[in-house]
Amino acid sequence: MKKEPSTGQDRSSSSYTKKLFSPHLKKRGHQRSMTMEEYRALCAHAQDHAVEFWGELAQRNLEWERPFTRVFNDQRPPFYRWFEDGVLNASVNCLDCHIGTDIEHKVAFHFEAEDGAPGQVTYRELLDRVCRVANALKALGVKKGDRVVIYLPMGVEGVVAMLACARIGAIHVVVFAGFSAKALHERIRDTEAVMVITANVQCRAGRQLPLKAIVDGALDMGGCDHVAHVLVHERTSEPWNSVDGRDGSYKEYVDGQSSFCAPEMVEAEHPLFILYTSGSTGQPKGLVHATAGYLLWAKQTMQWSYDIHPDDVFWCTADIGWVTGHTYVTYGPLAAGATQVILEGTPLYPNAGRVWQVIQKYAVSIFYTAPTLIRALIKAAGQDKDYAPEGYDLSSLRILSSVGEPIDPTSWMWFYQKVGHENCPYIDTFFQSETGGHMIAPIPGVTPLLPGSCTLPLPGIAAAIVDESAEELPNGKGGMLVIKRPWPALARTIWGDDQRYRESYFPEELGGTLYLAGDGAIRDEETGYFHITGRIDDVLNVSGHRLGTVEIETALIGWEEMVAEAAVIGRPDENTGEAVCAFVVLKHPIPTREEAEKIAHVLRQRVARDISPIAKPKDIRFGQGLPKTRSGKVMRRLLRSIVRGEALTQDMSTLEDPSILEQFMTTL
Ligand code: ATP
Ligand code: MG
Repeated sequence: MKKEPSTGQDRSSSSYTKKLFSPHLKKRGHQRSMTMEEYRALCAHAQDHAVEFWGELAQRNLEWERPFTRVFNDQRPPFYRWFEDGVLNASVNCLDCHIGTDIEHKVAFHFEAEDGAPGQVTYRELLDRVCRVANALKALGVKKGDRVVIYLPMGVEGVVAMLACARIGAIHVVVFAGFSAKALHERIRDTEAVMVITANVQCRAGRQLPLKAIVDGALDMGGCDHVAHVLVHERTSEPWNSVDGRDGSYKEYVDGQSSFCAPEMVEAEHPLFILYTSGSTGQPKGLVHATAGYLLWAKQTMQWSYDIHPDDVFWCTADIGWVTGHTYVTYGPLAAGATQVILEGTPLYPNAGRVWQVIQKYAVSIFYTAPTLIRALIKAAGQDKDYAPEGYDLSSLRILSSVGEPIDPTSWMWFYQKVGHENCPYIDTFFQSETGGHMIAPIPGVTPLLPGSCTLPLPGIAAAIVDESAEELPNGKGGMLVIKRPWPALARTIWGDDQRYRESYFPEELGGTLYLAGDGAIRDEETGYFHITGRIDDVLNVSGHRLGTVEIETALIGWEEMVAEAAVIGRPDENTGEAVCAFVVLKHPIPTREEAEKIAHVLRQRVARDISPIAKPKDIRFGQGLPKTRSGKVMRRLLRSIVRGEALTQDMSTLEDPSILEQFMTTL
């Protein structure tokens, strides 16, 4: 853990918007899940009677083959175990449990290919497909506990592959199908996978990427002898190179399989999957999630955060390569029996209008996306009215939600007003790959909303803000976000590296028992609501004043007509200790030097006005886009190297568009 500087800004959160919005739910037929008093009572119950609280949730949410008798085992902190003598299967909890109910013949996924070709699959059909693939895996020798890497385009096939692994107790390792051969290779090697499931090509943004060829490249890099088979889903008729004895097509192995496959019942703590973090801050970590604890939270948060009902149509734009896709495309919505929309490729292709068309066409009621996509939509709507939400019927929407980065209040308001017509609660969900599911998020119909805030922790999540000596800080004081008590959905370890797990998340400096999220946060003085202020390693110390990067970014983005996106980073400075550097993407073409200087002047004034003259960026750089991970997050470690004038020698395999870095090399 980096010790200094590690707390957020010490001032009040005055620059954030203060107005609270009612969390009312549009569909009157739906009962509110609870009142604010009941929410507080539930939080208190979870704190005082944790074993009872979690035991009850695990019983209520999951179908057990053999019920657990023991809720919690804390013999070896921080390696906690939950429900450990219980036995279950995750695919049964997502599919079989719906057979024989109204959900059996309900659409599980509406699917749209990149060229717009539609498709759909019911729960019954999904179960059949999962069983066929599971039988193929078994026939190829995959056993309980084996790791299977899934490198597939976004689509139903990826979900099927995940559930097929779960069905036979194999541990899936989904790798986002935009990653390079090198990144894929690292993940195959690290997990010693026995199989890779891929496709001949991926269709994305009008191009066809040769996925199978990338897999070949990764396997050729050496050290992958444990991979016995590569299973290829033929997305198109494009030919692919087949290695004898190792590679086979779905046609060959899957199509003839039986649609019945008895599920392998596993212990509650059996790893369901390994998932690597996005790599925003450093070397990605392979997090291991346990079956029961993870699944119970995936399902429960669908209730609390989304008030999910049988008539909802849920659209989460995340790829299954990220935790959001795991929990809010595969496990959570399916366990809840929801109907979903799934899109191949990117929702911004061929243009931003596709997002609104999809919502209109499928009558999406819950729309879950990322701030980066919202900002892209705002930019597109400003440039061309055909892409503005006003031109579409979005009346089916009842809940809007985002995850991945802090949402600035300006973008929050745009989404809330222009898309939700002030009728749909905006659910800003804070969570991490490590936490499996939502941690801090408003409950629709219950928690009053505050633009730019993820509001309050869900029941059972003991979130707090502490300083470097693990002292809890009062409202209005910025510090490090921690979780004080264990909860079942936390990843159990980093694959093969218990020590890194302990050091990263339960550092001795904080006493070894607090879960350190790695994010800075501050609680609003009046409401106690949480604002995430940025990664703790990114907090700036300018002349002894601590500044959160998010707050400065918020002030920059606040110039709505001019700024599309901004990222703030610190660099060492002789006079002030650290200097603020801002990377700004304008809504207009990159300005001339003279114009740029004028714009920079106004930006500095706005920061001085909204925060303090101390926070004024010393460097301001303009570019056409920010360097982002493939999950759409700003890659701060690269920006940090740029402002320090360091050579970019770091692993850039998770960077979406490397060419973007060039533009930011010059400063004003
Ligand atoms: P790495 O750990 O490799 O650096 P990462 O942290 O970006 O990658 P994820 O686990 O996908 O990988 O992202 C979790 C992080 O995303 C959180 O720690 C936080 O910084 C940010 N985040 C997620 N949701 C929110 C939110 N609603 N508000 C603010 N920040 C968020
Ligand atoms: Mg992280």
